[in-house]
Amino acid sequence: MRYSKLFGKTLREFPKDEVSLNAKLLLRAGFIDKLMAGSYTLLPLGFRVEQKIEDIIREEINSTGANELLMPLLHPKEIWNKTGRWESAKEIMYQLEKDEKEFGLSFTHEEIVTDLIIKHNPSPKEFPIKVYHFSTKFRHEARPKSGILRGREFLMKDLYSAHLSEEDMYKYYWEVADSYIKIFKRMGLDVKIVEASGGVFTKNYTHEFQVLCEQGEDTIFYCDSCDFAQNKEIFSGKSGEECPKCKKGKIIEAKSIEVGNIFPLGTMYAQKMGYKEKLWLASYGIGPTRVMGTIAEIYNDDKGLIWPSSVAPYQVHLISIDNEEKTISREADKIYERLVAERIEVLYDDRDSSPGEKFKDADLIGIPVRLVVSAKTGNKIEWKLRSKDKTELLDFEEIVKRLK
Ligand code: ATP
Ligand code: MG
Repeated sequence: MRYSKLFGKTLREFPKDEVSLNAKLLLRAGFIDKLMAGSYTLLPLGFRVEQKIEDIIREEINSTGANELLMPLLHPKEIWNKTGRWESAKEIMYQLEKDEKEFGLSFTHEEIVTDLIIKHNPSPKEFPIKVYHFSTKFRHEARPKSGILRGREFLMKDLYSAHLSEEDMYKYYWEVADSYIKIFKRMGLDVKIVEASGGVFTKNYTHEFQVLCEQGEDTIFYCDSCDFAQNKEIFSGKSGEECPKCKKGKIIEAKSIEVGNIFPLGTMYAQKMGYKEKLWLASYGIGPTRVMGTIAEIYNDDKGLIWPSSVAPYQVHLISIDNEEKTISREADKIYERLVAERIEVLYDDRDSSPGEKFKDADLIGIPVRLVVSAKTGNKIEWKLRSKDKTELLDFEEIVKRLK
């Protein structure tokens, strides 16, 4: 992609009306645009990051044997009345009326998926059923101020599984937990599995995937020596205490961001929705847009973003510093074409602007590798990692080898 053709450019200054670091960095670097509080456009750069995150999730979730589909976002009131959540989830759900009929905008899909499964009247052999989609969720969040960490409209991967026994449900539940650990690791996120209450979803314990981060809205308590971790809303102890599980470690209190949550829902949904046999349901969510915001919160420095290469919008940021004869930019054009032919994802800053501006923008955008072609680099190309200061002069073949 030529930067001159990219829709959505870097801004000269940080936006004044944002308090969260992720929104400041992502807005300034041209990854997102704000429509109103809690509502953002993913510009082409941001959308590429989101797609990389989706691809990783899709790959891992498919490998648990789940089927991808797509469910509607506008739901009739009647379906929500079956479980009583039209009333109990009123605070969070956008509810509207049109032509004397009431609708809810999807904030989750348990009712819709249970209805779908029941309608298809599966034979016992078809269980467990595992279906998921990536789609928008609408939630009436009060005063959202955390950028894309908390949208009133955001993306979610939600997976649902239906089982003929509780044992089978928990077997798959822990398989998905393992797959979540892999997903987050591939994106450069170190997560803790934290016990939490189920809110408007279930009375059972659920498990949250939390990333330690000072800017996070959650507070968790975890043991410094075993895997014990609970959300503040359910933990009854204090920091500094002995761990209630291993009796050896010490409890630490920390701020964190919830990037995923899995829910062993049990039989309630199918039962309330009229299924005659017992059916155990579980649901599993990850918010790709919140994940993107979390990565932005963690991977940055005072110059801008520093994307892990697994989720970076492009692998290479190519910069040309032209000479008077314009031979350098012609040379850089060729290098760009050759990299593209090698199927390397390149953002090519082909503008006629100053080297200082180009370097500053490259640091803001945070693509993992920066390549510079200038009069000084001769027949070599300057290589620099966004995360390091060191530069090296390499030839084209060596660069392709490293990138592959
Ligand atoms: P929170 O407690 O932060 O409000 P939640 O527990 O209500 O979130 P879940 O219903 O568990 O959220 O949703 C599953 C996942 O969807 C979350 O783990 C998170 O990644 C994402 N998510 C939830 N709410 C939002 C939001 N408002 N904006 C962006 N992502 C969200
Ligand atoms: Mg949650």
